[in-house]
Amino acid sequence: MKIAIIGAGFTGLSAAYELVKRNHKVTVFEKDSNPGGLAIGYKEKDWNWSLEKHYHHWFTNDRSILELAKEINYEVIVKRPKTSVYIKEKIFQLDSPMLVLNFPLLSFLERLRMSAVIAFFKIYPFWKSLEKYKASEILPKLMGKKSYSLIWEPLFVNKFGDFIDNISLAWFWARIKKRTPSLAYPKGGFLNFANYLVEKIKQKEGIFYFNTEIVELTSTGQPQIKFKIGEKLQTEKYDAVIVTAPSFLFLKIAPELPEEYKNSLGKLKGLGATNLVLRMKDVFFKDGTYWLSVCDKSSPVMAIVEHTNFMDKKNYHNEHLLYLGNYKEQTSEYFSFSKEEMLARFDDYLRKINPEYKKNIIGMELFKAPFAQPIIPTNYSKILPSFKTPLNGVYLANIEQVYPWDRGTNYAVELGQKVADIVLKDE
Ligand SMILES: Cc1cc2nc3c(=O)[nH]c(=O)nc-3n(C[C@H](O)[C@H](O)[C@H](O)COP(=O)(O)OP(=O)(O)OC[C@H]3O[C@@H](n4cnc5c(N)ncnc54)[C@H](O)[C@@H]3O)c2cc1C
Repeated sequence: MKIAIIGAGFTGLSAAYELVKRNHKVTVFEKDSNPGGLAIGYKEKDWNWSLEKHYHHWFTNDRSILELAKEINYEVIVKRPKTSVYIKEKIFQLDSPMLVLNFPLLSFLERLRMSAVIAFFKIYPFWKSLEKYKASEILPKLMGKKSYSLIWEPLFVNKFGDFIDNISLAWFWARIKKRTPSLAYPKGGFLNFANYLVEKIKQKEGIFYFNTEIVELTSTGQPQIKFKIGEKLQTEKYDAVIVTAPSFLFLKIAPELPEEYKNSLGKLKGLGATNLVLRMKDVFFKDGTYWLSVCDKSSPVMAIVEHTNFMDKKNYHNEHLLYLGNYKEQTSEYFSFSKEEMLARFDDYLRKINPEYKKNIIGMELFKAPFAQPIIPTNYSKILPSFKTPLNGVYLANIEQVYPWDRGTNYAVELGQKVADIVLKDE
């Protein structure tokens, strides 16, 4: 079959890899100059490794992507970095059952109750029975109001903003179930890993067009795409087209989609992400924390992640790299901020954690992704888009189809494998 894939994120790369392995003719179109999609990396002049524009790691049970790395012989590093929460202007390491049981801001009974709820979600397998419940209604009842309002509610508010009362308990279940204390990372960074996969696909005759945006997708009888190479507009027909862009972009390029389908995809909601990356001369978290979840509803920043407390700073010319991350609606002022404005917004808060940090900054970059985190409301399975679309030969495999798990590159790999199977079954 002659198949086009729109997008060289991990869904597109995984679908391409599956299809070329089975000797199909695959062409991948990517509007960016590099592969990796939301997990894309960049590299400063003196660095040996690339760094993701938005913080990334794998859990050690991210089986699909770890197996893919093994299959293509790509080295993966596993470590157990320190994960902490910031509550009442103090950092507490909170990444093991023992630490939860010793958490000083809750009474012994409250700690026990919260631990029991987490342990329950860890072992409970029937997520479907949970999807009808709202996390914000059930969690305070299960773990007690104090634990919920001290730890979980601020996390929900900081992550989901006005959507806090929409989030399904199945989403929370998935987050708890999948979390592993040890984390994995591809040696050299996600960009290096994505490029390596591109080479493997090319070795099997796969073709890549970078800097090439698909501007139109139609399908009267056979799918046809329109794309621009330089100033020249070209069209090409395929036996099948796989779209891996988020749904709102699919709607933009496919004018023939029926109204009913457009309305159903239009109902899916999502948040964008911003990450300010600080390059520093010295460590930010002196206690070695890698990941800090900010449990404070008034905080301007949701997560502070010191990448070089996970991966060795020697790979980045001995710079200490700190992410200041947020999820925000696309209409948020955060998307209009320059990097200086973003730092100014965070400055007072960061000083509380490390009063000296500013003098250590040697550079910074700001990255923005307009669609990064789908909102998973109750009963999401009823509105989950299917791989097949109303357009003949056109398939959709994107971040909004990851369920019940929270989106991630592991599930992008799974989606790519699944959609490749479906395309070939329809042949
Ligand atoms: C802040 C943040 C933190 C995250 N943390 C983690 C983590 O720790 N671990 C983890 O595994 N995952 C993490 N993720 C999630 C992970 O990055 C995504 O789930 C995954 O990369 C999605 O891959 P995808 O291929 O489905 O979509 P995308 O990565 O969005 O890929 C779609 C691709 O399509 C391209 N495209 C779109 N429209 C067109 C067009 N018209 N023509 C050509 N190309 C087009 C885009 O440029 C993009 O490259 C995180 C994401 C964010 C934003």
